[in-house]
Amino acid sequence: MEKIKMVTPLVEMDGDEMTRIIWKMIKDILLLPYIDLKTEYYDLGLKHRNETNDKVTFDSAAATKKYGVAVKCATITPNADRMTEYNLKEMWKSPNGTIRAILDGTVFRTPIIVKGITPFIPTWTKPITIARHAYGDVYKNTEMRVPKGSKCELVCTDKDGNETRELIHEFSESAGIIQGLHNLDKSIGSFARSCFNFALDTKQDIWFASKDTISKKYDHRFKDIFNEIFESEYKDRFAESGIEYFYTLIDDAVARVIRSEGGYIWACKNYDGDVMSDMVATAYGSLAMMTSVLVSPDGVYEYEAAHGTVQRHYYKHLKGEKTSTNSVATLFAWTGALRKRGELDNTPDLIAFADKLEKATIKTIEDGVMTGDLALLSTLPNKRKVDTEEFLIEIGERLKAML
Ligand code: NAP
Ligand code: MG
Repeated sequence: MEKIKMVTPLVEMDGDEMTRIIWKMIKDILLLPYIDLKTEYYDLGLKHRNETNDKVTFDSAAATKKYGVAVKCATITPNADRMTEYNLKEMWKSPNGTIRAILDGTVFRTPIIVKGITPFIPTWTKPITIARHAYGDVYKNTEMRVPKGSKCELVCTDKDGNETRELIHEFSESAGIIQGLHNLDKSIGSFARSCFNFALDTKQDIWFASKDTISKKYDHRFKDIFNEIFESEYKDRFAESGIEYFYTLIDDAVARVIRSEGGYIWACKNYDGDVMSDMVATAYGSLAMMTSVLVSPDGVYEYEAAHGTVQRHYYKHLKGEKTSTNSVATLFAWTGALRKRGELDNTPDLIAFADKLEKATIKTIEDGVMTGDLALLSTLPNKRKVDTEEFLIEIGERLKAML
């Protein structure tokens, strides 16, 4: 069989620990035999980030902007333990944070659904994709404890020195607490555009919610910006695609989500997204079955798994023990990126390959062949737990039969 050709390279961001091992296995077993893989390779493994003073992370983000599509392996975000383990010059920042700031993107997380693994909410038969606005609000706040007898005001000084004051509270009865939050029209606008683009891209409705009835200026601004951008830039394209933008109050949204069957994107303010993404991920069963894509407002895509580097399994692997690590989310990061590359380059062979590789993966699990984490969850009668590499080989056999 002739290998599938690629026109434009993918930006490939390699990573750390068990996911780095899986990364190479996926390429060797499932990609290189079938695709004339063209990538621009960046090694974001912690060792190389340290050697380059983290320049490689910035370079990989710049390359992503240039080519439009990247696939990223999970990476270590250094903490005190990693400083000694890797003898680091500095506690380098999270690569995901750096890349997200450069691309100004929004992260969309989508569960991969397979037969035999029933969500805790059994009516969720389709995936719910969560988009979290990752800027501002309580994550960039200023807060104080204030003693009894204090008077607290919100003061804004404009560029000409004019002051506007609003009373927050007179703490005459008791000591208390105050908090200052902000967000930016620009950031909210980027978030809205990323969400609307991704909805068009995946042909799914998009829901957005806030508490605008209570927060008549702050949350209401989110509602207004979404609405203005939708009306002026997206309304017609949504109508053509037969999809909807739906705004409601956050408490109504939560109630509707629980009653829904899934199959839409739920755009969340920063705190809502933090909390709800953990709830939704848990309800679908496994973080190892959750994909993640960073989408910039100008249509640049970076695909990855939602989980980390699976450190505990890596230490077993280093000791020569067999591991049974789930590679599905990392594999779907590759198929997502290859499909998007195929769409942008107009190479249907590449798109078809990505589709088949995903089908082969799901078929493998639905045939009862799975890694340990899924074997614990699956209700299939004849399931067989396989190791990390066997699982990929099993997928490869099913893929070959489909090509
Ligand atoms: P983790 O790598 O997600 O793993 C936590 C636990 O979840 C594992 O020990 C394992 O449970 C289970 N698990 C996660 N993914 C799995 C998979 N693919 N297959 C089977 N089991 C899986 O989180 P962590 O251990 O807290 O973090 C490890 C490193 O990852 C940290 O250095 C962190 O900075 C980094 N991290 C990176 C990203 C990213 O790059 N996007 C995201 C999160 C964390 P059992 O041990 O019970 O089998
Ligand atoms: Mg959280």
